[in-house]
Amino acid sequence: MDQVIELARQRIAHATHPVSFSGAGLSAESGIATFRDKNEDALWAKFDPAQLASQEGFNADPSLVMNWYNQRRKIVAAAKPNAAHMALGVQSEWVHITQNVDHLLEAGGADPDNVLHLHGSLYADHCNGECGYRENVDIADPPGLRNCPDCGAPMRPSVAWFGESLSNGIFERAISEVEKADLLLVVGTSAMVVPAASLIGIAKQNGAEIIVVNTQATETHDATDIHLTGKASETVAALFS
Ligand code: NAD
Ligand code: ZN
Repeated sequence: MDQVIELARQRIAHATHPVSFSGAGLSAESGIATFRDKNEDALWAKFDPAQLASQEGFNADPSLVMNWYNQRRKIVAAAKPNAAHMALGVQSEWVHITQNVDHLLEAGGADPDNVLHLHGSLYADHCNGECGYRENVDIADPPGLRNCPDCGAPMRPSVAWFGESLSNGIFERAISEVEKADLLLVVGTSAMVVPAASLIGIAKQNGAEIIVVNTQATETHDATDIHLTGKASETVAALFS
């Protein structure tokens, strides 16, 4: 394993356009539960995703959904970046594409302009109607269910739900970054959520070296050049030490 880490370190050191692509596993050691791990803390083991992270679920019981997100917001507000967020965050020449709705890469030092939040952010709500109104949220003390001041529709968390398309051209920006990438470091994602996961194949087709850090084997195995089995905090930190 040490030799494989060393090889990955060299590839990283020589990359001219390095990009990271992360998922919930990056933040797991900061105490934020993942969605699909095979352990009882994984969020979907306790809740029905269709009920909590879909437009249908929100329409059926908006306060249940808002309360669940507000509980998650308080957990995220108390979370600290781990060694992986900090190792990645200080790499000022890297672009970070993340599926995570926390801001722990930014807390680890990343310039917010270099972090693409594909699935939105817990730090904002937007109007569930068509008017486009959006407001920032204090995640330590988030407001409950309320109506949009512009059009009266309910406000909802500014995150991508199942079945929704990604907003504001964010996916197009991510594609353009992975097309330019000569190295993609994939950390803590099951790579099962599309279209996000397709970024790995796009990077590979455009010539990027694919290095994967995960506690388990993942769906990315066809594209993977180097698979590092281990916890994000230890393995990612070792890649930059
Ligand atoms: P996922 O839950 O589907 O998969 C997590 C992956 O991380 C798994 O492959 C698991 O083996 C791996 N993993 C777990 N602990 C790890 C560790 N310590 N080090 C390295 N790898 C570890 O997560 P995903 O692929 O991001 O799924 C997508 C959805 O989950 C996204 O839409 C994302 O918005 C949402 N999500 C985000 C957060 C967050 O913002 N922190 C938390 C939960 C879910
Ligand atoms: Zn509105």
